[in-house]
Amino acid sequence: MHSYLARFTFVFLLGLILVVLGRTWLLESRQVTVRSLAPIVIDAEIAARHLAGAIRIRTISYGADSKVEARAFRAFHTYLAKTYPRVHSKLTRETVADFSLLYHWKGTNPELKPLLLIAHLDVVPIETSTLASWAQPPFDGSVANGFIWGRGTMDDKASVIAILEATEYLLKNGFQPKRSVYFAFGHDEEVGGFKGAAAIAELFEARGVRFEFTLDEGLVITVDQMPGIKAPVALIGLAEKGYVSLKLLAKAEGGHSSMPPPETAIGRLARAIQRLEENPMPATIEGATAEMFATVAPEMDFALRLQFANRWLFDPLLLRQLEKNPASNAMIRTTMSPTMLAGGIKDNVLPSEVRAIVNFRTLPGKTSADVTAHTTRVIDDPMIEVQTWGPVFEPSPISDSNSPSFRLLARTIREVFPDIIVSPGLVFGGTDTKHYVGLTEASFRFLPLRLTADDLKGIHGTNERLSITNFSEIIHFYARLFQNAGER
Ligand SMILES: [Zn+2]
Repeated sequence: MHSYLARFTFVFLLGLILVVLGRTWLLESRQVTVRSLAPIVIDAEIAARHLAGAIRIRTISYGADSKVEARAFRAFHTYLAKTYPRVHSKLTRETVADFSLLYHWKGTNPELKPLLLIAHLDVVPIETSTLASWAQPPFDGSVANGFIWGRGTMDDKASVIAILEATEYLLKNGFQPKRSVYFAFGHDEEVGGFKGAAAIAELFEARGVRFEFTLDEGLVITVDQMPGIKAPVALIGLAEKGYVSLKLLAKAEGGHSSMPPPETAIGRLARAIQRLEENPMPATIEGATAEMFATVAPEMDFALRLQFANRWLFDPLLLRQLEKNPASNAMIRTTMSPTMLAGGIKDNVLPSEVRAIVNFRTLPGKTSADVTAHTTRVIDDPMIEVQTWGPVFEPSPISDSNSPSFRLLARTIREVFPDIIVSPGLVFGGTDTKHYVGLTEASFRFLPLRLTADDLKGIHGTNERLSITNFSEIIHFYARLFQNAGER
């Protein structure tokens, strides 16, 4: 009996190992093979100077309710017209909502649905306390040590200027795209795009324009960020997470702090937040994140490839590993961040009301209603009101990574960047794309910035900069995209 059990166990384990190894070995790369192309001939130094000029114009979005920096935006419009004369004579340009720009480059084949490139003209402000830490002042537009420095070099003037550089270059060479292309450059993306992108989207709606696909910022080429992969990985965002903030309002009897009751409003609110931190929404590998792991797994080193090839067995282990890192945690669940706290007026007065704002980023597949329900259930305190606060965005639909548009994009990336892996991915932050999702079945988010974890800190942070070499690659990418977009 004993030996029978031992033999059974042995055979079972052997079988298990064979299945796990077999699945690992059978995993095939999903990368398309393309011929890499010689880069287009642009003068990288001049292009860098053009971007630097754009950085000097302070098109800052301070807040949703702040006044628009009208003069800066108008100066930016003039700068673009002056810098790209061919673009401005061959394409139509409309000013929308006073400060946003919409370009139309007419294609030769009116049967083809147009392509929409989305970018934004505005940048976030600089925190005064960080000014001294900038190696080059953020609005000087310095070009030094092989980099263009300043606010907007990555987010998102690199995209605006590279699109126009590529177009100017192609026009100079007598190129006209087969497929019409629109450029939508919003002026208030950093504060939600409610005036700019929203107005452009309405205009398209009114004109009955629908797109083959849209392309916006959102994900990048990650360098040394994907565990188990040496090559850089270009992530194309198929979807973006939703956005909802909840106000937690704790009420209690106010009064003198010399005779406190056992329960206070501050105590209740603190407990509520602690419960939320201890009970996050469930983690799961699905949607765009699942597609990402399925695509990068064949490129990973053996140990990780084995785990991702056998998710049926290793998911609990994988989820525990992914949870530990904030970036990978954000891929697998709706995240929760307490961001604001207010209450109390004097040190000897018990407040009768205190408030916290908690910001959630909703995983596609969940809704803001799920977030509210989870929050109410976890807090489990009838003395705390839970209400939505500010604008709510549900998660976007997930675009199809098997669509011809995705394949076109993947091929274009591989042509320009032969050394990198291309994969679908999930965007955590919000982009202007949210205003355009109804106008297409395929919304993609990708800007070919090569970013290490360290570079990433420059976005909305200190020492934002872009290498001249990478900027040339971005221009090349857009030029190739316009050339490829008509084929199919
Ligand atoms: Zn941006």
